[in-house]
Amino acid sequence: MDWFRKTKAGLVSQQKKEIPDGLWTKCKGCSEVIYSRILEESLWVCPSCNYHFRINANKIIKLLLDDGQLERYDENLSSLDPLKFRDSKKYTDRIVASQKKTGDLDAVICGLGSIDTVPVSIAVMNFDFMGGSMGSVVGEKIARAIERSIDREIPLVIVSCSGGARMQEGILSLMQMAKTSALLAVLAKKKITYISVLTNPTTAGVMASYASLGDIIIAEPKALLGFAGPRVIQQTIGQDLPEGFQSSEFFQEHGFLDVISERKDLRKNISLCLHYTYTPPKSLGN
Ligand SMILES: [Zn+2]
Repeated sequence: MDWFRKTKAGLVSQQKKEIPDGLWTKCKGCSEVIYSRILEESLWVCPSCNYHFRINANKIIKLLLDDGQLERYDENLSSLDPLKFRDSKKYTDRIVASQKKTGDLDAVICGLGSIDTVPVSIAVMNFDFMGGSMGSVVGEKIARAIERSIDREIPLVIVSCSGGARMQEGILSLMQMAKTSALLAVLAKKKITYISVLTNPTTAGVMASYASLGDIIIAEPKALLGFAGPRVIQQTIGQDLPEGFQSSEFFQEHGFLDVISERKDLRKNISLCLHYTYTPPKSLGN
C-alpha cells in the first residue's frame, strides 16, 4: 500500500491554486458561465441571451450620471425600530447586516447630478439592502428628492428596484406610498418631468406608488414588475394568468409603460426624454 501514499516530488503541487471568488458568473437566463470581466464590459448583461443581471445602486449611478458624479444628500438617515419587530431575526440586526454589506444606511441613494448636461434630482434604490424594501427612511429620502426637484425646478429620475414596502415597519412603510404620491402630484402640477425607471424587480408598495407614477416610465427588458405575486393573484381571481404576466414586455403591451430599454441604451434614452421636456430657467439662459 505504500506506493499509494508516496508522492513524487514535483508531481503534486503543494500550493493549491485558488480561483478567486466572483471570477466567473453563471447566467440566470441561459446558464452560460461568463468571465466576470466580460460581464462588466457588457454592463452586466449576458452576451449570449441578453439577460440583465441585477446591479447595485452605485453601478447605476456610474452608468447614468455625467462622469458618474452624484452630490449625495440625506446620507445620515437611518431606520429606527418603532415596532420592536422580530421574526427569525431582529429588525435592528437585519439593518446592521445590510449597512455592513452595502456601506449605506438604507436602501436608496439620493442626490443631485446631471444626465447629458441636464440637471436632475435622482434617487436610485439598492436591492442589496433588505431587498430594496421601502421603510420610512426610503420614503423620506424619496420625498426629499422630489422636493429638491420642485425647489430647483429640475427633472426627477427615480430608478426603482424593490420587493415593496418593508414589513418590519408595518403601517409606517405603507404611509410612504401616500407621502411620495402626494408630493409627485405637486411635482406634476408644476409641470416638472418625472422619469421612472423600473429594474428587475419592481413590485408591491413601490410599484403601487411612485414607480408607476412617472410621466415617462422606462423599464429594463424582462424585469419582474407587478403588485402582488402571481400565486396570490391566481388564488384571488381563480383564473390562470396569461403567458409572460408581470414582465416589462407584458406591461408595455398593456400600456403601463412607455419604453423598454436595454441597459446600454438607458442613459441615452433618459437623456432623450430629458432634452425633450426640460427647458432651463430663463435666469440661467443666454
Ligand atoms: Zn445568458
